[in-house]
Amino acid sequence: MSDISRRDLVVSAAGAAVLGLSGPLAVIPHANAQTKMSQGFFKYSIGDVKCTALYDGIWKKKHDDKFIRNASLDETKEALKAGGLTTEFVPIEFSQTVIEAGGKTILIDTGTGGQLAPTAGKMMANLAAAGIDAKKIDTILISHFHPDHIFGLMAKDTNEQIFPDAEILVPEAEYKFWTDPATFAALPERRKGLFKRIGATFPNWKNLSQFSGEKELVAGIHSLPVHGHTPGHTAFHISSGDKQLIVMGDTANLPALFVKHPGWHAVFDNDPQLAQTNRVKLFDRAVADGAVIAGYHFGFPNAGTMAKDGKGFAFNAYSG
Ligand SMILES: [Zn+2]
Repeated sequence: MSDISRRDLVVSAAGAAVLGLSGPLAVIPHANAQTKMSQGFFKYSIGDVKCTALYDGIWKKKHDDKFIRNASLDETKEALKAGGLTTEFVPIEFSQTVIEAGGKTILIDTGTGGQLAPTAGKMMANLAAAGIDAKKIDTILISHFHPDHIFGLMAKDTNEQIFPDAEILVPEAEYKFWTDPATFAALPERRKGLFKRIGATFPNWKNLSQFSGEKELVAGIHSLPVHGHTPGHTAFHISSGDKQLIVMGDTANLPALFVKHPGWHAVFDNDPQLAQTNRVKLFDRAVADGAVIAGYHFGFPNAGTMAKDGKGFAFNAYSG
């Protein structure tokens, strides 16, 4: 186990200042990524809070020219290459975060449940490998209702709950959107499946409740509305002493594309302009506060610090 130390945070912030925020900082390739990846989890601390990143797997998304609304396929491939990633496909990885604080175990987002891509669905195995008993999870916080974040809550064929004893907290605006009959009626057929599945599960689950706005959900953990990616998309802010962690869900998808170019609009974003505004705001805050950031699609390890990098930002992955 290792710590993201105060010194690392200071060096990162100071480094950006020394560079005058102009010269591009290298996106540090995931140092130790191979070791961490085969391990499937890694642990770090934010003050007194114990954090565990879990690896669920990867979706090797085929290229298509509609993936980024305002960048060409060539620009996309160039940016992937500049970030040290493959250009054969878009490597969209999935990582969840477990927080252990005040005697409680909290899981943030729940992975694909092995129901999205044959190369993903490892979260439960990696949770066990990290020494965390799934039955001991007290609370599950959900950032938004896209399949890669909620399918881990429900069994593949039966929709049976995977965590029946945990308290599940979801953003109210998100719940409203995905259970609104008017939204459902207006959708094309191909997008109705997810709505139906949410309608067949969440409203029946007695252990699921909603929250709104900026609220302390568990001691030391606040919701942070970052709407845009979806209507209720929410990040979670964890603090201990003067240390902070922001588990930011899909505020940005992979760093080589949307951290380096925060103005790029992924096709997944429901309100791209609002998503961009809130993305930049959150990154500015992380840089100013020296907060550690954990991104759901940030590769692995998925936590680290954020710095200004030219017109965009650079994510400096924690390297163990
Ligand atoms: Zn996602």
